[in-house]
Amino acid sequence: MIAIIGAGLTGLTAALHLAESGHQVAVFEAGDHLGGRTRSFVDTHTQTTIDHGPHLLCGAYHATRKLLNKLEIESNVTWQAHVTLPLWEHERGGFLFSPSAHLPLALAIFPAVLRMPEHGFRSILGMIATQCRAPTSPITTVHAWLKTMHAHPLLIRDFLEPLCFATMNESMATANAVSFQRLLKTAFHNHDSAKLGWFNRPLTDAIITPLQCRLEALQIPIQRRTSIRKLSLEGKRYILHSQSKRYGHFDQVILAIPAYAKARLLNTDTPDQKKHIQTRSILNLHLWFKELAPLPTQSTTPFIGGLGTQGQWFFDISAQMVGESNPLRHLCMVVSAPEDLANLAMHRHADWLKIAIEEFAAIYAMNPDELQFKCAHHRLIHEKRATVLVQEYQNGVDIPEALAHGIIDRCEQPRIGELPATIEMAIQRGDTNALITS
Ligand SMILES: Cc1cc2nc3c(=O)[nH]c(=O)nc-3n(C[C@H](O)[C@H](O)[C@H](O)COP(=O)(O)OP(=O)(O)OC[C@H]3O[C@@H](n4cnc5c(N)ncnc54)[C@H](O)[C@@H]3O)c2cc1C
Repeated sequence: MIAIIGAGLTGLTAALHLAESGHQVAVFEAGDHLGGRTRSFVDTHTQTTIDHGPHLLCGAYHATRKLLNKLEIESNVTWQAHVTLPLWEHERGGFLFSPSAHLPLALAIFPAVLRMPEHGFRSILGMIATQCRAPTSPITTVHAWLKTMHAHPLLIRDFLEPLCFATMNESMATANAVSFQRLLKTAFHNHDSAKLGWFNRPLTDAIITPLQCRLEALQIPIQRRTSIRKLSLEGKRYILHSQSKRYGHFDQVILAIPAYAKARLLNTDTPDQKKHIQTRSILNLHLWFKELAPLPTQSTTPFIGGLGTQGQWFFDISAQMVGESNPLRHLCMVVSAPEDLANLAMHRHADWLKIAIEEFAAIYAMNPDELQFKCAHHRLIHEKRATVLVQEYQNGVDIPEALAHGIIDRCEQPRIGELPATIEMAIQRGDTNALITS
């Protein structure tokens, strides 16, 4: 019998794979709901189901696509035909980064960069360098790496910096260059890997409920509201302890929780170790407007990357969702790692609201007061530990030796050179079959 601790995407995927291979599994989840960071909830004011923040996918998410296919829910994701990135800046207005589908991506990127206002051959040379020139050391930061190749400031500002925040969820000053370059190579490998996708219904409906239904059909017990506080051994078998109960006896235990939760569970969360498990937040300001047209993205892509704006991404959630019947237009401004942006870190809800209204108004070419007047509701969601950062774990978040033999560590804990924490990595971590000893 195998215990899985955590019912986010990692734990639920692990349960599915193992049960389908004939293993007996039981899942333990601390929360009321399944899905962890990819669960939705009802905003009672508008009576709409929303996610904490919009989640984007790219074509290189192979494990995710395989899972969607297995669950027969491919239609819950809308994919671009080929990558198109709508961008917006105060001076230059809206424009697209849109490589032609008629050329291989490696070639199509260059004319696409040249078509972006103010870009020229220096941007192209910079793009080539990011593919060819490896960081000098495993701990080089993105900032230092770009400096060694004299990357053009406009290429950094329009492309590399927003991509770094969006994918690594931290600033270039600290993000690891080896992982970032790997990510660029993986995502821009070809047209299929580079295209973007988005869930066209709230995450719980789109992926968590279908997973849950499949697990129920396989009769897998899922124990909610059960925070596992401690693990112990009786002979070679594991006992799981919640505050009031013991659960046993398990041959193996899969940890499908973020690294900081693992440290707490294994009682290794010393102040020293806490410093080593670095996380960053994501801030999402959801807004609902009366009688507002779709976000002007100049494409069918329902979001815009902001350049020189305080919000980094501007989503039109109403346009993203299929069968949306709410007459209010739901928009969302996203800021990755606001704690890395010194001038923004201390902002309060009212400040963020003012910023969002001003920046959405500029994108819509409207007067901010007029837009403010149309705003029926807003909701700030600041997910404090949105992702665990790529980092080296010198003092380890290691499992004590006495417990280690049957514990399978699938915690979110990306190491240097690995890809950053995403849905794709969670689903990949859930593939634990090969690690099970029968
Ligand atoms: C706002 C936001 C935006 C994001 N945007 C994107 C995006 O655009 N694209 C993308 O690919 N990824 C994105 N991510 C990242 C992605 O959501 C996560 O990497 C992924 O969901 C992690 O899944 P997980 O199962 O590993 O962890 P989690 O979802 O955190 O699941 C862990 C579960 O374990 C439970 N748990 C913890 N401790 C215990 C315990 N002791 N006992 C029992 N249960 C426990 C928790 O309650 C939780 O349900 C975003 C994340 C956030 C927060």
